[in-house]
Amino acid sequence: KLHNTIQELKGNIRVFSRVRPLLGDELLGMDSDVPQHINFPDPDKKILELEKLAGITPNEVCESVASVRRGSNNKYEFQFDRVFPPSSTQTEVFHEISQLVQSALDGYNVCIFAYGQTGSGKTFTMEGRGTGDNRGMIPRSVEKIFATRDDLLSKGWIVSYLVSFLEIYNETIRDLLVQSRSQADSTKHDIKLVGPNTNEVFVTDLTTVEVQHQDAVQVLLKRALENRSVAETKCNERSSRSHSIFRMKITGSNSVTAESCVGLLNLVDLAGSERLKESGSQGQRLKETQNINKSLANLSNVIMALANKETHVPYRNSKLTHLLQNCLGGSSKMLMFVNVSPKEECFQETLNSLRFATQVN
Ligand code: ADP
Ligand code: MG
Repeated sequence: KLHNTIQELKGNIRVFSRVRPLLGDELLGMDSDVPQHINFPDPDKKILELEKLAGITPNEVCESVASVRRGSNNKYEFQFDRVFPPSSTQTEVFHEISQLVQSALDGYNVCIFAYGQTGSGKTFTMEGRGTGDNRGMIPRSVEKIFATRDDLLSKGWIVSYLVSFLEIYNETIRDLLVQSRSQADSTKHDIKLVGPNTNEVFVTDLTTVEVQHQDAVQVLLKRALENRSVAETKCNERSSRSHSIFRMKITGSNSVTAESCVGLLNLVDLAGSERLKESGSQGQRLKETQNINKSLANLSNVIMALANKETHVPYRNSKLTHLLQNCLGGSSKMLMFVNVSPKEECFQETLNSLRFATQVN
């Protein structure tokens, strides 16, 4: 009963945390790939415990977060809807989001975000690696969606699947499905509100591809990968400085029952959340970082305004929330992965990420 009430209060927002394993060189001198300072003490898989590290003084903001319970003097305890320890497989993670993917098929607008510092596993979670067991949430969602196709057809539904993939880089939208890089550079995209109640968000001149089969989506993902702009920072040699949004619009109409439905599934790989000072940014990079910080902060403001049922939701303060405004709030469903690096040197960023999550949770 109490649990139901909490769910009602929280509405359609869920927050999961995933800790990636230690990898490669990070394992040198370690007994196992399991981080020593992050614990998962809860059999129900909802608690993440972070042990303070000697020599690191978490900043004051983190210390004062009310919803972070102090297990003891040297531990922070965070509660999530679900935590995934380093041993979690992509299959296990997808299992927990497949209901949301079903919701998009049922006509809801769904947003799934990956938040975290560069190198914490956002892209691994969303896109994955290769075509085997490490495939991420995007290919698995697409597979689930197409797995229902024959059944829908046999019940009289005509369904269309429209895919777009874009990135927001420096508050500028770039189409990731264009055929040539020069086209991506020269086309300017605006956000427009359309439809009978102007509640549908439309991006001008954006490539949208109608797909008939999951394999066609794979081709598009590959094209997007080639188009993606990637920059280097100190934290990670291939850190992504942009948000990317994979979107599938599923439109169904049934000539037998005269029913129709439209659902939108958005899978969003957010830009790295690391703080300015740690990236050693200057010039152009500094501007990028400021834009990233601003839009991530605005995302959290929007979510909090929605959770608090405020009348004004600041969707238009950043491209990201402007673009997703018909998928955040109302009957839409939202899930956020907070990706966490197990490295001790990332302790402060980890604490920052978990703090962000307790705000939106
Ligand atoms: P981000 O997108 O947050 O910058 P990545 O997804 O690129 O981080 O992850 C950083 C590195 O760690 C990549 O080499 C990735 O393949 C690897 N990685 C991340 N999560 C996992 C995981 N759960 N299991 C195995 N490798 C992972
Ligand atoms: Mg990435």
